[in-house]
Amino acid sequence: EARVVLVSACLLGEACRYDGKSKGSDKVMRALEGKEVVPVCPETGAGLGIPRPAVELKGGAGAEVLEGRARAAEVESGRDRTEAFRRGAELALAAARRFGAEVALLKERSPSCGTQGTHVDGVVVRGQGVTAALLARSGLTVVSDEDL
Ligand code: SF4
Repeated sequence: EARVVLVSACLLGEACRYDGKSKGSDKVMRALEGKEVVPVCPETGAGLGIPRPAVELKGGAGAEVLEGRARAAEVESGRDRTEAFRRGAELALAAARRFGAEVALLKERSPSCGTQGTHVDGVVVRGQGVTAALLARSGLTVVSDEDL
């Protein structure tokens, strides 16, 4: 049983999503009862605003972005956001290490936080967001709100 859990801040009720909303739920709060919670929002942590233009991954999912074979870009303008997405992932990993979190509970399908599905080239595909991919390859167990 994990004692310390890294959690997508929007799942805790923080209105930090691109659309200025949150995704808090009783289900999440119940699942975290008795745990130490480390909230992170990789995108706002990397300096992206609230609200902000929606971003999708281009050419591959999070693992490919980390390897430089895909990128993150705003859906409407095409503006490249790869560096911010990578930086946000690094911030999340640093928080996990600092507080000893071995499990991350993340928001499904986000281009940063998605654990099993994420937005690539206009569709939802199997694959992880950039942060989920970095956490997973760094040894954390990543689960999503939809696994609860
Ligand atoms: Fe932030 Fe992740 Fe939630 Fe998006 S899904 S608002 S990046 S915590």
